[in-house]
Amino acid sequence: MDQITRKSLLYKSGLGFWCINHVQGCSHGCRYPCYAWMMAHSRGRVESYEEWCRPALVSNAEELLGKELKRMRTRPDTIHLCLTTDPFMYCYPDVTALTLLIIELINSYGIRCSTLTKGIMPVELADSARFPENNTHGISLVSLDEEFRKKWEPGTAPYMERIGALRELRDYGCRTLVHIEPYPTPNIIKQDLQDLLKEVAFADEIWLGGWNYNDLVRQFPGYKSFYDEQSAILDRFLAARPTI
Ligand code: SF4
Repeated sequence: MDQITRKSLLYKSGLGFWCINHVQGCSHGCRYPCYAWMMAHSRGRVESYEEWCRPALVSNAEELLGKELKRMRTRPDTIHLCLTTDPFMYCYPDVTALTLLIIELINSYGIRCSTLTKGIMPVELADSARFPENNTHGISLVSLDEEFRKKWEPGTAPYMERIGALRELRDYGCRTLVHIEPYPTPNIIKQDLQDLLKEVAFADEIWLGGWNYNDLVRQFPGYKSFYDEQSAILDRFLAARPTI
């Protein structure tokens, strides 16, 4: 796997939380399109989509992060992994191994981690001796249809594998989250949100968001009402499920 070095790692995102991206690029190659890919391309960090899909590990990530955490006067409660890459990239064990080391390091400073992946959550995350803080682990999931996945998120983990790994962490008592974004309109795929919600009903938190950066969505008549309806379905689902 390619490697690069960075001069800094930890930063406060425009969304207001702290995060770290210890890989450049992402083999998942989402075609929604991926906002991180658009930014990396426009800033000249990668020249092509093919290059974006060939991830490079930040080889000095652990060392750099250790120094940055030590230097921080006021440490955040939580650090998020990741905003511009995927911390548990499917079929990239080197990425997963580095992510686990980084979470361990962050936890050793009494800071929680939140993670979000379209890959496979490793069961090691349930090892409370290694990860003492109350971390939150999440998957992105917008469909159960494998044809949709192959078209729009070609390098990601198959949906049932992705859900199964998260469910295993939940069974071990970890806090889990499902992020349903970018949810497609019916002109992209016809599906029933209820089917998806039933599969992830075990998760502690479920969030829903629309599909940005693609005109296809706006071509669906009444797309705003469609998203209002989907939000209402989620609200009813959450209100009806037993407290977990
Ligand atoms: S998983 Fe996330 S970072 Fe990777 S290509 Fe997809 S949207 Fe981009």
